[in-house]
Amino acid sequence: MPVAHPPEGTTGHGQSVDTYVVSAGRPERVPDAPLNTPIAPASSFIAGGPMEYARYDSPTSHALEDVIGGLEGGLATVFASGMAAANAAMDLVPMGAVVVAPSAAYTGVAVRLRELEEIGRIQLRIVEVDDTTAVVAACKGAAMLWIESPTNPMLQVADLPTCIAAAHTNGALVLVDNTFATPILQQPITDGADIVMHSVTKALSGHSDLLLGALVSTDPELAERIRTRRVLLGALPSAFDCYLALRGIRTLAVRIEKAQDNAQSITDLLAEHPAVSRVRYPGFGTMAAIEIAQGSDAADAVCENTDIWTYATSLGGVESLLERRRRWPLESASVPENLIRLSFGIENAGDLWSDLKQALDLVLR
Ligand SMILES: *Cc1c(COP(=O)(O)O)cnc(C)c1O
Repeated sequence: MPVAHPPEGTTGHGQSVDTYVVSAGRPERVPDAPLNTPIAPASSFIAGGPMEYARYDSPTSHALEDVIGGLEGGLATVFASGMAAANAAMDLVPMGAVVVAPSAAYTGVAVRLRELEEIGRIQLRIVEVDDTTAVVAACKGAAMLWIESPTNPMLQVADLPTCIAAAHTNGALVLVDNTFATPILQQPITDGADIVMHSVTKALSGHSDLLLGALVSTDPELAERIRTRRVLLGALPSAFDCYLALRGIRTLAVRIEKAQDNAQSITDLLAEHPAVSRVRYPGFGTMAAIEIAQGSDAADAVCENTDIWTYATSLGGVESLLERRRRWPLESASVPENLIRLSFGIENAGDLWSDLKQALDLVLR
């Protein structure tokens, strides 16, 4: 079975990141070539080349993989969603292997890991990722350390270099889900991570109009194993979605800068509001969470009474979203009932604050 090569030229880019997101993944500069990589809606390719069949490789996904791989400093394989990428990564450990994972990882990931434990496929060791001593201890005898930093939705930050080194001492693979920080703010491969995962659905594509995932690895052999997972699981994104993601990623650097400015200024104001008992914000990034002093009903009321902020799940888009996470029955019980996750968009900071403030003021009445 032909397993397509990982994309070439993706191990580090040597350009400023804001230049790179604009210039990478473009067609070769020859007269009349289009500026943008075309959407290539083809399941099959003329025999004899490296692509052959779209589950292996295709021109539009290849261009997106070049960009994401370059951003993270490795070889990227894109998947139909973040969860498809996660499942492919979970496939990489042997039967019965010990997997160390965060107490409140992304809900889908946490639930899937628990399912795999229930059927005896893996043994789970749950840790608080910000408790470095506990993570280091849990790595003993582990085959994989699965980490989010910051975590979704608790915004816990891990000491990545220390945790990754402890995992490697034990011969464990390290996967870092970098969806929240994005490669603009954090590149886990430089801290030693073996695999970086993305829900490209979120900030990388940035417009809440598609689902897509990615795994990135520096090790060509591991990248090939990941690619084989996609070939065999078949969870690949459409050429159209790859095109949309490529288009979205062009503005990644400016979107993150603006959304992070909004997050930094508004979380400071939120900390002073009497309806807010706790602000979780690690000081960087576009995601935060607040806890509402008056409880979970009041938290629902805040979500339902904003005009600019939209009450919806997901994150990382140009529009600001908020959501009480425990409305999902499967969300981890370690997430407080009154916690609202905030995904900062790129609207005007003053508008975002006055909208949130009037909704918070309502619960004080
Ligand atoms: C959304 C998300 C996922 C899952 O990605 P999908 O694209 O929704 O399948 C995984 N990890 C994190 C941190 C997420 O936010």
